[in-house]
Amino acid sequence: MSGNIEYPRDLVDFLNQKYKDKFWVDHESGKLKFDGIQAFWSRSSLLYAIHKELRVLIGEAADAVMHMVTKPHGRTFIEFAMKEFGELEKEEILTHLVADLMATGWGMVRIIPKFDGYQVIAPKGFPIGQQFLEHNEASEEPVDHYFLGYFEGAFSMLDGIEYTGREVLCVASGAKHCEFVFRPSED
Ligand SMILES: [Zn+2]
Repeated sequence: MSGNIEYPRDLVDFLNQKYKDKFWVDHESGKLKFDGIQAFWSRSSLLYAIHKELRVLIGEAADAVMHMVTKPHGRTFIEFAMKEFGELEKEEILTHLVADLMATGWGMVRIIPKFDGYQVIAPKGFPIGQQFLEHNEASEEPVDHYFLGYFEGAFSMLDGIEYTGREVLCVASGAKHCEFVFRPSED
């Protein structure tokens, strides 16, 4: 071989078009598919691997890291939606949020507003919990800190008050689904 290997623009455009044409959401499983295969699943296995390695290195503090890294991302989504869609009701903004999660392959999620916060259910489990199942592993503690942080950021931004979330049920610990509850933070 001689010389550098660079991407040809026409091949990139071709692949890009192919991705646009071939992605579809399986509404049964909540998974994003490319042709017949599951797409973007590598993101979940990457998160699973990061969490696992961090657990070995720093113990339970790993949970807090996973929780905190995604909180700004949840805030940003709501901030963007408020700007983009202007006068939408909170319910409509949250509808966009769950649609976005499904459309980008993170799976199906149901948000249940409560008088004192929110309940969030992933009927098939959140992605890291699902990864535990796929690896035939179990955890005594819930494992979906990543999405817990995401929703914490989103609800806090939406309502202008800080929420603290907890995963009360997780598929990684043997539950049928994953479930978060969010209450206003006590300070
Ligand atoms: Zn879970």
